Amino acid sequence: MPSTSTPASLPTSSVSPALRIGVLALQGDFAEHIVMLQECGVEAVEVRTEAQLAEVDGLILPGGESTTIARLLIAFGLMAPLRARLHDGLPAWGTCAGAILLAKTVTNLDRPPLAVMDITVERNAFGRQLDSFEADLDIKGVPGEPLRAIFIRAPIILSVGEGVEVLAALPDGEIVAARQGNLLATSFHPELTHDRRVHELFVRVVEAHVR
Ligand code: GLN
Repeated sequence: MPSTSTPASLPTSSVSPALRIGVLALQGDFAEHIVMLQECGVEAVEVRTEAQLAEVDGLILPGGESTTIARLLIAFGLMAPLRARLHDGLPAWGTCAGAILLAKTVTNLDRPPLAVMDITVERNAFGRQLDSFEADLDIKGVPGEPLRAIFIRAPIILSVGEGVEVLAALPDGEIVAARQGNLLATSFHPELTHDRRVHELFVRVVEAHVR
């Protein structure tokens, strides 16, 4: 059932019922993303196998622990097929650990896991005192009032390459959301709120891609 508490949400009728969006379900808060996607009116599926990956129109990489998810991507035989689909233009959205997985450069990680998005990311960038915090953010492509963003041991996007649009930054200029074509990265966790406007933005990206 669509939540009534979400501001500026799309009517579900504006979303193609055939759209199937996957959530990488190896570790982390994938269940919350599934619920948000269902509330957006699309089919939401957990992705753990190559066959499941092959059937989705878009993919969310959830928050969790990027090093663990990277290890599990290898263990589940998903690293190469996922990289291939991303190179073919599969729309993808990484939240927090998911954003770290997508980044081409991660300052404090030996090897960037998927390395498809032209951003440089620093893991656990807010240090101990600001381990977790919330902030109101204006996000490009997200209409209406500022979005309450939840940061949990969050990364910062230190810099973006050509062709990457900054979607949101904290008041001191730290970049926390970016888009490169069909790829979205957010440092924060919209799936932990009742505000589904960023999920709706991603659904629109996926919809425009399959059309
Ligand atoms: N600090 C975690 C990492 O490096 C990310 C935290 C999160 O996803 N909330 O992967």
